[in-house]
Amino acid sequence: MRKKQFKTQSKKMLDMMINSIYTHKEIFLRELISNGSDAIDKRHFRSLTDTALGLEMSAYKIRIERDADNRILKISDNGCGMGEKELEDNLGTIARSGSLDFKKENESEDIDIIGQFGVGFYSAFMVADKITILTKSLDSEQAFKWESEGVDGYTVEPCEKEEIGTEITLHIKEDTENENYSVFLEESKIRELVKKYSDYIRYPITMLCETPVQSSEEGAEPQFELTEQTLNSMVPLWKRDAKEVSEEEYNRFYHEKFFDYEDPLAVIHTKFEGTSNCHILLYIPKKPAFDYYTKDFEKGLQLYSGGVLIMEKCADLLPDYFSFVKGVVDSADLTLNISRETLQHDHQLRVIAKAVEKKIKAELKKLLRNEREKYDAFFEQFGRQMKYAIYASYGMQKDALIDLIEYRSSAEKKYVTLEEYVNRMPESQSAIYYAGGKTPERIDMLPQTQAVTAKGLEVLYFTEDVDEFCVMMLGTYKEKPFKNVSDNDLDIESDEEKEQIQKENDTSKELLALMKQTLGDKVAEVQFTNALDSHPVCLSTEGGISTEMQKVLESQPGMEQAIKAKTVLEINLKHPVAEKLKALYGSDNATLENYTKILYAQACLICGMPVENPTELSNLVCDLM
Ligand code: ADP
Repeated sequence: MRKKQFKTQSKKMLDMMINSIYTHKEIFLRELISNGSDAIDKRHFRSLTDTALGLEMSAYKIRIERDADNRILKISDNGCGMGEKELEDNLGTIARSGSLDFKKENESEDIDIIGQFGVGFYSAFMVADKITILTKSLDSEQAFKWESEGVDGYTVEPCEKEEIGTEITLHIKEDTENENYSVFLEESKIRELVKKYSDYIRYPITMLCETPVQSSEEGAEPQFELTEQTLNSMVPLWKRDAKEVSEEEYNRFYHEKFFDYEDPLAVIHTKFEGTSNCHILLYIPKKPAFDYYTKDFEKGLQLYSGGVLIMEKCADLLPDYFSFVKGVVDSADLTLNISRETLQHDHQLRVIAKAVEKKIKAELKKLLRNEREKYDAFFEQFGRQMKYAIYASYGMQKDALIDLIEYRSSAEKKYVTLEEYVNRMPESQSAIYYAGGKTPERIDMLPQTQAVTAKGLEVLYFTEDVDEFCVMMLGTYKEKPFKNVSDNDLDIESDEEKEQIQKENDTSKELLALMKQTLGDKVAEVQFTNALDSHPVCLSTEGGISTEMQKVLESQPGMEQAIKAKTVLEINLKHPVAEKLKALYGSDNATLENYTKILYAQACLICGMPVENPTELSNLVCDLM
């Protein structure tokens, strides 16, 4: 029979397993049991629509057999089994190739990845030098045997097997000076490992165990017989009392179930007593899943009914703005063969969804109040989603979310909530000021930001594309309007200053009109200003659409020509360049026009807008030089 080669990635993983110096080799048992349990889930799930494929619920089990003399440990399940192709696909390649990529980045830390992430079936090679699998799939009459002694490949051939399911035989390695592999053949060790790692598995894990028999004779040697015992309590983690579950258990469950190698940011474990009991276990991850911001991402919670999985990702249980939450909901009330369509209308489910949302919100608020750094880190990762929800719902979600939104600001360069901002603003301040740009540093460079902060006012940094659109939907917060510092009618000058500039603009009417004419419809107006500190020029906008919003809108496909910001070129009256322009008017209008173009290009660059004609700008500047 021809030996087949493992795929390259799998080979590397296998190599890592075989030569592992990992001290917790014992996790192999957890991995195999969890595969067995998943396989039973799959079979049961299939039987919901095709009853001929299933077994009585009580007949499902995972069996462990040991034969210490022959160094054999066998783990079998009556789950879905594998066909020939599945054997190839699943065991010839490593399924979670992501874990290997992760390993590459952290070459020295392979130890952690094994412990935290779980590496599946291959971990068995940490303790076995030969593995034989007999398996019969739900979908085929023919059973198959897969066998491998490690890196030099594996064989697959047809074989005899009566029952549907999978039987994995490990030939346990011989002990070495440093390693005691024999321990994995001991009854007490296996009991301990099942209790430690697989107690919550909801199918019985059974093994023949030595049990003392009462002898009728006085003083006789104690006698034992082998009886089949169930080693796990089968109470899933989420059904246990929250007080009795350790942080480590929560984290381990999270790693295994949701394939995240980091610990979660927060765990929410609660029992909800509605019309019936419902257990909820939720995790807020530290970082978004790799596909979180793509259209492939599917939100949802695992839905169980009385401990049996009925839906892998129940989307109706999570609002979009909390789509990053992972977890399990187990409600005894739901019927087992409920479909996606009927679920949507299920009253019980809607009640649970409300409870889930409330819990998540309360947990986030608690973090915000008590563990600010943690919350800020969370918001950095997931805040966009919540701001987007306010925008996309036309502000309808604002009451649900507004307290959770925060922005970095000029005051301490840290995050502030809107409440904090409003609470600390001076009484005379009438609006909430913000400025848009790519980064806080870029925003700080804006002439308008400097002008506003110079007056002692705090400016919120809007660095995300959704920010301005979001406040557009909010309108006001605690009756204070939001105001972009680039707004043409920002209104932070004193009455005296306003009067002075009005006069100046009136006097220079013709000069400004010529400059406006030079720029055509690129700008709505050209004005002098005295609100700028030391900067010569800036672009402000009129009428609600800012240059930042224009950038976002233009980046949408098909929207290139869409809505434009109405811009005003503002010249700092206090800057010498203002005098120069005034002097040129009437005496050398050609130069005045060139300077106008240069000033406009500069203003565009400052606010991060593209210069329409860079060649012209370059020529104009060189002429000057
Ligand atoms: P993972 O469990 O993370 O997917 P594994 O390497 O442990 O990775 O297993 C790879 C695949 O092999 C599983 O996804 C499953 O499809 C299949 N498999 C493993 N063990 C069993 C089993 N006992 N019964 C049926 N299929 C199994």
